[in-house]
Amino acid sequence: MSDDELAKLTEKIIICESCHLKDSRTQVVPGIYGPKNGLCIIGEAPGYNEDKQGEPFVGRSGKLLDNMLSDIGLERRKDVSILNVVKCRPTTEKKENRTPTNSELKFCGEKWLFKQLKLLSPKLIVTVGSIALRFFIPSAAVTKYVGKSYDTDHGIKLFVTYHPAYILRNYNLMEVYNEHFEDMKKLYVTILNQNGITFKEKPSEQKSLTDFL
Ligand code: SF4
Repeated sequence: MSDDELAKLTEKIIICESCHLKDSRTQVVPGIYGPKNGLCIIGEAPGYNEDKQGEPFVGRSGKLLDNMLSDIGLERRKDVSILNVVKCRPTTEKKENRTPTNSELKFCGEKWLFKQLKLLSPKLIVTVGSIALRFFIPSAAVTKYVGKSYDTDHGIKLFVTYHPAYILRNYNLMEVYNEHFEDMKKLYVTILNQNGITFKEKPSEQKSLTDFL
């Protein structure tokens, strides 16, 4: 989904050269937009594959995320916005992926993510991974907050879960991850119902690790 304001904002984001991360990127990854007043999933920053393809959460992590969403009856873009706090890929001196610093999170997030969220006006934000959570709740440890929901200072409900890449490295947490997405769905349905919207169920499919390898 894209309206004029969102399209104009995205045009500005994709030519941004406001910080040093312009030098490590192939392209800016602004994110993908679902419906306004809906669900928004937020990660930390593009990695190698995202930088090449220009879309957040591609590759094995993206496939797992898409399957988790499918299990609760949702699809990226059609139903869900997917954004990163930082829009350009941070790299090490060896050109490998690295975690964005707190100052990179704050600078890019406040410059662009807040504006995107203002226009998208999501009813529920889901942070995946500790870095995205840290942008919204700087003192937060993901182990303490994970699987729970919180009210942000901006009046938007926030649900916290793991990054799909973390689950691929710790597959013993898959059951917990499924529970998180189920809980997130229940919360989202409740919020939609409070706004007079009916959630349409889709059949779920059983997944195994090999689906994501
Ligand atoms: S990381 Fe953000 S602020 Fe820095 S150049 Fe990219 S879009 Fe601009």
